[in-house]
Amino acid sequence: MKLELFASLSKKRTKETSVAVAMANFEGRKKEVIAIIGGGISGLLACKYCISKGFDPILFESKSSIGGVWTKTIGSTKLQTPKPVYQFSDFPWPDSVNQVFPDQQMVLEYIESYARHFDLFSHIHFNSKVLSLNFEDGGSGDGEWNLWGEAYSYSNKGKWKVTVQDTRAISPQIQIYQVDFVVVCVGRFSQVPNMPEFPQNKGPEVFEGEVVHSMDYSMMDSSTATNFVKGKQVAVVGFQKSGMDIAMECSTVNGVERPCTVLIRTPHWNLPDYFPWGLNLGYLFLNRFSELMVHKPGEGFLLSLLATILSPLRWAFTKYIESYIKHKHQLAKHGMVPEHSFLNELSSCSVSLVPEGFYERVEEGSIKLIKKAESFGFSKEGIVLDGHATEPIKADVVILATGFNGLDYLKHIFESTKYQEFIAGSDDSAAVPLYR
Ligand SMILES: Cc1cc2nc3c(=O)[nH]c(=O)nc-3n(C[C@H](O)[C@H](O)[C@H](O)COP(=O)(O)OP(=O)(O)OC[C@H]3O[C@@H](n4cnc5c(N)ncnc54)[C@H](O)[C@@H]3O)c2cc1C
Repeated sequence: MKLELFASLSKKRTKETSVAVAMANFEGRKKEVIAIIGGGISGLLACKYCISKGFDPILFESKSSIGGVWTKTIGSTKLQTPKPVYQFSDFPWPDSVNQVFPDQQMVLEYIESYARHFDLFSHIHFNSKVLSLNFEDGGSGDGEWNLWGEAYSYSNKGKWKVTVQDTRAISPQIQIYQVDFVVVCVGRFSQVPNMPEFPQNKGPEVFEGEVVHSMDYSMMDSSTATNFVKGKQVAVVGFQKSGMDIAMECSTVNGVERPCTVLIRTPHWNLPDYFPWGLNLGYLFLNRFSELMVHKPGEGFLLSLLATILSPLRWAFTKYIESYIKHKHQLAKHGMVPEHSFLNELSSCSVSLVPEGFYERVEEGSIKLIKKAESFGFSKEGIVLDGHATEPIKADVVILATGFNGLDYLKHIFESTKYQEFIAGSDDSAAVPLYR
């Protein structure tokens, strides 16, 4: 198994390169069968590269269409990365898309046209959910790692057993494939909602209103979503992209009459735009030079030394951006200055773009921010904040924008605990986590 190929890619240009490098080592061994799991951007990129290197990959996609997270989003969601940065390097956006931040439909059409252009559809098995992966080492023995090109494989004699379920079949239909390599591209912002845990009698069961996860809300079409929140007291838990988008939608529907309450556990360095004090953010952090400023897992001595030498510059860039966000969003006034650094936010790929006019809605009173909501529970009437001697926050609807458990999902696709243990996050704030 090539660990380089664990691709769940959110930075396309960087990852495109890393997949390409790994694939370059496969030249001359084109009979190997490669399975790709997931038909989002990452899976499609991996598929295109495998084909370009002479392979005939099989891509398993559990749904009936490609595009992953972009197949259905909250109605108002747009790309939050400027279009030129969110672009396949070998397939530019069409001229017809003029917006810097295209909407969901445009992104989806762009992804589909990429797949058509590189003739990827014939490789895709739709409605095929990979239930598990298991490596059968072909008798090479436990713990034996082999160098293959520049990458290590656990054994080049063994095969991966890919167990696939046909999701259309009424009775479960399972098929097993044997392949040489697997590229796992199952995404991190879908599948398993991250649900907070509550002590007994403090969970949603005691609440008389309705509780949904942002994933359910995003599945609604626009008019259903509007009716779902209209005239209701809505509380949104979470302050990342989904939480902010949902709060904006609720405040548009209900105005100051029924402010939308947002519970915030951790303030974030969310960006107002990509031009801090007039300088393009890309020049500071989103380029190949800036990659040298951060420590990476498994880096060699020279790269580690370079990252250490460049640390004052990293610090200066970080402070520069932080000062801009603080100023632009008046974070101190709103009590929203994060305790962690912007670099930490950026390298964990959790920076969101604040929807235009968000803090104006806070000022006018149609969005109400409740800060330092470390933990909470439910009462009959709404939300009770632990450690706050305040009245419950009355609500008819609570929307949990609490994210996804992507790492857990990724881990458990492997049957063996040995491979599950390879999937690990990093606690080192200066290091690059898995998904960068
Ligand atoms: C609302 C929203 C807005 C975003 N905006 C931006 C942005 O502006 N800029 C940015 O850089 N990133 C953004 N992202 C991050 C986004 O996740 C990535 O940009 C990118 O689309 C992820 O692609 P992916 O292929 O890694 O994962 P996904 O798009 O999640 O695709 C994974 C695919 O794998 C399939 N799959 C999962 N499990 C299995 C299985 N067991 N068997 C078979 N198939 C399976 C899924 O059905 C899905 O099609 C956003 C994410 C969301 C949710």
